[in-house]
Amino acid sequence: MAAPITTISDSKERQGLNLIAAHSHIRGLGVTPDTLTPKPIADGLVGQQQARKAASVILQMVKEGKIAGRAVLISGPPSTGKTAIAIGMSKGLGDDVPFTMLASSEIFSLEMSKTEALEQAFRKSIGVRIREESEVIEGEVVEIQIDRSVTGNNKTGKLTIKTTDMETLYDMGTKMIDSMTKEKVMAGDIISIDKASGRITKLGRSYARSRDYDAMGPDTRYVQCPDGELQVRRETVHTVSLHEIDVINSRTQGFLALFSGDTGEIRSEVRNQINTKVAEWREEGKAEIVPGVLFIDEVHMLDIECFSFINRALEDELAPIVIMASNRGSATIRGTSYRSPHGLPLDFLDRVVIISTHPYTHDEIREIINIRAQEEEIDISADALALLTKIGAETGLRYASNLITTSHLLAKKRAGRGVDVASRPIEVDDVQRSFQLFYDPARSVKFVQEFEKRFIGEEGMVTLSNGT
Ligand code: ATP
Repeated sequence: MAAPITTISDSKERQGLNLIAAHSHIRGLGVTPDTLTPKPIADGLVGQQQARKAASVILQMVKEGKIAGRAVLISGPPSTGKTAIAIGMSKGLGDDVPFTMLASSEIFSLEMSKTEALEQAFRKSIGVRIREESEVIEGEVVEIQIDRSVTGNNKTGKLTIKTTDMETLYDMGTKMIDSMTKEKVMAGDIISIDKASGRITKLGRSYARSRDYDAMGPDTRYVQCPDGELQVRRETVHTVSLHEIDVINSRTQGFLALFSGDTGEIRSEVRNQINTKVAEWREEGKAEIVPGVLFIDEVHMLDIECFSFINRALEDELAPIVIMASNRGSATIRGTSYRSPHGLPLDFLDRVVIISTHPYTHDEIREIINIRAQEEEIDISADALALLTKIGAETGLRYASNLITTSHLLAKKRAGRGVDVASRPIEVDDVQRSFQLFYDPARSVKFVQEFEKRFIGEEGMVTLSNGT
């Protein structure tokens, strides 16, 4: 197989760059690890404790590999932290557990069908952890002898390793000999050596089981002792997504498509072949599946065909956990004339676990704005923070967050000579001016209503003042 080109974390970064910027202050779910109790403010998250607790329970199940093939819906009014919580979950996943973010509108593209876009998103969210052994480390071990002595029924191996000038390996070898007798390692055994502690663990006689490998740190080497000789091998572990394997093996695309992101449609025969290959690797103990998370934002934008695709895809043996977010109450299911909660078909809704988010209190809004300002390294005077909080409570958190940046720009322009421009704090005046310059959604709607006649209507005609 071709060497993996991209790591999961690389592609994670590429996929969600835009969505993540507004959430750069979020570092996790802010819960205590043992009891999963959410702290009022932690890891950049504020309040929303019930939803965070629920999310951390789901996260725990993902980590334990118990919840692949399920769907979770985070529902709540706009700007109540649905995406923020999903990002918090992604930070709690292991480094090689894939997390894919998808805004539903992204799948309506001219380049590929909706179902192909969804299929790719699903396969980006499944990792394949592949273990590869390198050959005997060249030049490190030059001669190995096993002197056998018999103790009871066990042939206890005494290993002597002669190395070149590589002191480290020699040291490891010495430690190995020391603990060897205790471990009763025999020819044919597989042992692992922890480089830091020199501790030897006996893994078994043929292929070690995956959980044994998991116990090894990245610096661990493992040693196989076939009759009369000993080989020191390095083992490398790569995790790639199923989608990355698809692209690398798709003749029409080639691996360069991974860099451009321009992968086009992938033929189903390619996917079938990959699935068969991965199944073989799993059988042989060379690979394991790492089910990840697919986060679908604005899920009400999907249509009935997409929901039917997801319903089927969740049944698949290789399914990630699908987390969706919606801020809609009752809405029409796209592609039908039916209305339903969150715009999700009822049979689909039936299999979904729902987490709700609720509007924030005044204090929580102040804390979130404060954290955002710190993240952007902007100082705010106490009065300006109070005003932004009031604006946030009345118009929405996202608008108030945006005003932090614009107010800061105005504050910098206002700075007089000799003042350190960058560190000038935002004052009430800056917020007020910013508020006048940039409309929040409610004022924008009012403006449109007041001047409706001057706008171009759906028919593309402007109504003149004389009524023509
Ligand atoms: P929508 O329904 O409009 O998509 P949403 O519920 O997904 O909204 P977010 O995008 O998560 O809302 O939140 C808006 C902004 O507020 C983001 O910058 C987010 O990081 C921040 N935010 C929301 N809730 C919290 C929270 N509990 N703690 C810290 N930051 C938060």
